[in-house]
Amino acid sequence: MKIILTGDRPTGKLHLGHYVGSLRERVKLQNSNEFDEIYIMIADAQALTDHAGTPATVRENILNVALDYLGVGLDPNKVTLFIQSQIPALFELTAYYMNLVTVSRLERNPTVKAEIAQKNFETSIPAGFLCYPISQAADITAFDATCVPVGEDQTPMLEQTREIVRKFNDLYGNGENILVEPDIFLPTSNVCRRLPGLDGKAKMSKTLGNCIYLSDDSDTLAKKVQTMYTDPTHIKVTDPGHIEGNVVFTYLDAFCDDVATVNEMKEHYQRGGLGDVKVKKFLLNVLEETLKPIRERRKQYENDPAAVMKILQEGTIKANDKASTVLARVKKAMKINYFE
Ligand code: ATP
Ligand code: MG
Repeated sequence: MKIILTGDRPTGKLHLGHYVGSLRERVKLQNSNEFDEIYIMIADAQALTDHAGTPATVRENILNVALDYLGVGLDPNKVTLFIQSQIPALFELTAYYMNLVTVSRLERNPTVKAEIAQKNFETSIPAGFLCYPISQAADITAFDATCVPVGEDQTPMLEQTREIVRKFNDLYGNGENILVEPDIFLPTSNVCRRLPGLDGKAKMSKTLGNCIYLSDDSDTLAKKVQTMYTDPTHIKVTDPGHIEGNVVFTYLDAFCDDVATVNEMKEHYQRGGLGDVKVKKFLLNVLEETLKPIRERRKQYENDPAAVMKILQEGTIKANDKASTVLARVKKAMKINYFE
């Protein structure tokens, strides 16, 4: 069986980083018809690990994320879209897996470490936040996922999951693999694995506020492209420019299929004589071409939120059936199925 599980936190609308890091790949995988099952989760319980005080934000963004999914072309007839908090099996699995992981192992997770610093948790880290990699292991294994298409920041989570799977199978498998070890699926291009923000920071992220959202209208998009970080030493058009760390060129690598033209522009820019305004105008056209159909498809669904919620509800029922079956298998292996 080939099974996909992936998802996003409903902490805001989805942005171009999500698109190149994961969404675009998901749509390709969906349309490849190579997978037996595809589960896509709106991770509201995970969002609450750092948004416990603002549950309304999480609630509101469930619809936003679902609209973004449908906008990019995820097809509810081919993929199961569901809401994490409504699947009790995920929390039971998390509780059992917590006994297989040490606190110091969690503290060593580089992504979690970076997020703790970014959120100024310092010594008051919510226990749920520290443990979210364990809950991700539950999410992935509850669906027997073999493939997890995500951005590079998720690599440590997949490593943690694989460790839990191996430990579980060793302890409780009796020679059998009760849990499935998943593979991470990263975009082939480095640029897409971690798209930088508009400001040149390493990662476009909702938390950092340096995003172009999939739902931004043409005017907002144009304004954001204008503010993009380029090369601060490229002052006069005739000056030779740098393309390293120049976000405009990074985005062209991520979004423009016409590689020959982009390479020509890079050479011209480095030689001098090509102005930022021109490159940005070219990029704006490329981005508008990508975003226009997404925006339009999203709009159609925006007019019928009840239909979108129905899609989520039906998906959640299906996901719940699957996760319950896997949980029963886990409990049997752990010999905690007393009344069977
Ligand atoms: P938050 O700030 O709430 O954590 P986020 O912008 O980091 O939001 P997530 O919901 O944590 O987004 O990430 C969802 C998916 O999108 C993950 O697979 C993640 O790897 C991917 N992703 C997020 N940002 C980027 C980015 N800038 N480049 C590539 N992939 C990304
Ligand atoms: Mg994140």
